[in-house]
Amino acid sequence: MHYKVIFPKVLFPVALVRVPSRCFSGSRRNNYQVTVIGGAGGIGQPLSMLLKINRMITKLHICDIAKFIPGVAVDLSHIETPSVVKGFKSPEQLGDALEGADIVIMPAGVPRKPGMTRDDLFKINAGLVKSIMEQIAASAPKALVAIITNPVNSVVPIACETMKKAGVLDPNRIFGVTTLDTVRANTFIAEAKGLNPYEVKVPVIGGHSGVTIIPLISRTTPKVSFNEEEIKKLTVRIQEAGSEVVEAKAGAGSATLSMAYAGVRFANSLLRGLSGEKNVIESAYVMSQVTSLPYFATPLVLGKCGIEKNLGLGELNCFEKNLLDKAISVLKKNIDAGIEFANLPECKKEHMS
Ligand code: NAD
Repeated sequence: MHYKVIFPKVLFPVALVRVPSRCFSGSRRNNYQVTVIGGAGGIGQPLSMLLKINRMITKLHICDIAKFIPGVAVDLSHIETPSVVKGFKSPEQLGDALEGADIVIMPAGVPRKPGMTRDDLFKINAGLVKSIMEQIAASAPKALVAIITNPVNSVVPIACETMKKAGVLDPNRIFGVTTLDTVRANTFIAEAKGLNPYEVKVPVIGGHSGVTIIPLISRTTPKVSFNEEEIKKLTVRIQEAGSEVVEAKAGAGSATLSMAYAGVRFANSLLRGLSGEKNVIESAYVMSQVTSLPYFATPLVLGKCGIEKNLGLGELNCFEKNLLDKAISVLKKNIDAGIEFANLPECKKEHMS
């Protein structure tokens, strides 16, 4: 007998039930290594816990600059699932943590406080992402990399530029995690219409901050209808949902638990794609040619090498086209800032921080 994790919708384990061993037979690979960088943090800890109970993962490496990271690993290792957990201290052991990783998830970095925008985090988190990416380029250049660190709009370009400089860029393997925007859109629209959130799917495209977040409410499944005022309100709520959490936590950080859920939902989709499952679709902010910008979030088909196909923007109505226009000008600045930072000489970068 083994324990099978039951995932309503796509991933979320609500129960562990005993099932016969034959349920695990099949030709798909089921023994992946995931490395979490920032594993001791507000997102990192619940994210690592949910990964520990994912049966496709056999090795879970958690890495952090926090001194107590070995303790987090010991704590997780007592959970009665077969995956082996190891803790690593960054930066000394970052290379060892990355060695052999199929997927790297990065929730390392500073979160927002009330009154801050995600762009305010740039000064601290830009350098952090660059140095971690340099190590990923050296130790795990073929891993799928899921970046949670904000500002996603700027740090994903930094990540790609860093991999490019190291000569190992594969744009199909680098993702900015925007899943929380999708999760929030599904939740809020289900709430507004009294629907079961498991059954609601709202595509969200663009970037991951304020007006760059573009929920395509007209393409919700099942079909829902709202008047113009309601659509405007829902759109703003989805765009500003992160601030709702930041304000409510009153200085104690930003979304951690819902982000851990969203991060694991995304990791699980990457794993399903890696294992050869067909038609695994998830949105993420990636290097892209679907707009005039070099980076954009759209629904992607995930496969054995990361992005198999970019599904593009699809049909937008008038309201959504206006949102797109507004998003593009802001995103352009965010992307340019990231590219510029990644290509600055080292001495100027120190001056900026
Ligand atoms: P946190 O401060 O609780 O945790 C961050 C962790 O990163 C800490 O444990 C810290 O020690 C660690 N860390 C810092 N530098 C590191 C390094 N160089 N190597 C390894 N570990 C390092 O913050 P949090 O609330 O978990 O948020 C983490 C990041 O995620 C923030 O930038 C936040 O803005 C972002 N975030 C993104 C989304 C999204 O939707 N993409 C949502 C919420 C938060």
